[in-house]
Amino acid sequence: MKYVSTRGGVPPVGFAEAVRMGLADDGGLLVPDALPQLSPDTLRDWSRLRFQDLALELMTPFVGDELSRSDLADLIERSYASFTAPEVTPVVEVGSRWVLELFHGPTAAFKDVALQFLGNLFEYLLVRDGGELNIVGATSGDTGSAAIAGVRGKDRIRIFVLFPKGRVSPIQERQMTTVLDANVHNIALRGSFDDAQRLVKTLFRDLALKRECHLAAVNSINWARILAQVVYYFYAWARVTDGNPDRAISFSVPTGNFGDIFAGFLAKRMGLPVDRLILATNRNDILTRFVETGVYETGPVHATLSPAMDIQVASNFERYLYFLVGQDPDRVRCLFDALSRHGRLIVTEAEQARVKSDFAAMAVDDDATLSQIRETFTASGYILDPHTAIGVRAGGDRRDLVCLATAHPAKFNEVVHRAIGREAPPPASLRGLMERPIRSIELGADIDAVRDFLRETLER
Ligand SMILES: *Cc1c(COP(=O)(O)O)cnc(C)c1O
Repeated sequence: MKYVSTRGGVPPVGFAEAVRMGLADDGGLLVPDALPQLSPDTLRDWSRLRFQDLALELMTPFVGDELSRSDLADLIERSYASFTAPEVTPVVEVGSRWVLELFHGPTAAFKDVALQFLGNLFEYLLVRDGGELNIVGATSGDTGSAAIAGVRGKDRIRIFVLFPKGRVSPIQERQMTTVLDANVHNIALRGSFDDAQRLVKTLFRDLALKRECHLAAVNSINWARILAQVVYYFYAWARVTDGNPDRAISFSVPTGNFGDIFAGFLAKRMGLPVDRLILATNRNDILTRFVETGVYETGPVHATLSPAMDIQVASNFERYLYFLVGQDPDRVRCLFDALSRHGRLIVTEAEQARVKSDFAAMAVDDDATLSQIRETFTASGYILDPHTAIGVRAGGDRRDLVCLATAHPAKFNEVVHRAIGREAPPPASLRGLMERPIRSIELGADIDAVRDFLRETLER
């Protein structure tokens, strides 16, 4: 299998190159040139596999012959050995629906499913092919800790995470700063999240520095992340239907950057019996508006109780558009030209009809988020985190519905307490964080300070 850019401007590349490249060199995103089609018999056979073995089967055609089967199997085993649930992503029954718990990894959020795998994959490729990688990223909370957990202690990789000092939650800050591995560098920036993001962008625009220092981004658009996320859709379907290929189910997905739900879209395209994909957003509803109207128009970002979804430009959306317009890179370029020129992009009526057949969409505000946490707790005793609550709300009372649980509720205990007057008991990974030793460096929001720190650390 080869990977092509959604904008058609790079020659097809193999899996390893696609993973290394992250963003395609022409500014587009990398997508497979064809999707494997799974027969009902295959679905039934694979439905009895454990998570890791299912991942191996599903990933094999995407990886091609670039990794041996035993190396890929070993990467997958190691990546999910860090999860505390034996099933990796268990499916539990909550009232009349199913909840797919994606939060049993080291940082208690679903990003671990992809970033544990990506960290091991990066290391494997660097050790095999030579080279080194210095990951630099800005975080407002969740991604930073999951990325750090993915690469801590790894050979040939260093990570630098800039976070706004005093503006991420104490737990989120500790999840980063208590990691003492020598290859992890936490930078508490005297400034805002926007400052941190601006500084990272400035670093990456300096192409000489980027090359000299082997800089890489903590990419929510890296193909390997999407691939790892495809697996749990198949896994959940198998648990709920017992592997009966005649039974379709729906998934409700709390959505920000569109990575998670795009993986669900791919699963459906590969033959998984999916009835509806429900795209659930908070008040930042650019995607729900797109499904309703066919117009994708950016607006201001609002702070909500589900901060990991406070996003206006959904970076993986371009991949979906590419499939929506029939894998036509010229049309994708055209649409994105319109977006950068006029701040919006409009699809045709026929395309919009296809969007509506792919997704149902709903935006859920903070009040409804709190009510849902309360209602679910009262009815079943199960505690939802605010992101998951949005998906549950948007799913409504559909039958055969799986709601993706994207964070452990204890990560957002202030919100949980507001909703139900008590807190969720924290998993082991979140316990004792406040007592552990920490390491971070404080810098001003100043490009020279950040660049100097980077250079000095790399020289050491
Ligand atoms: C990142 C994140 C999301 C959004 O996922 P996308 O792939 O960006 O759509 C939802 N919930 C939580 C808890 C997250 O960390």
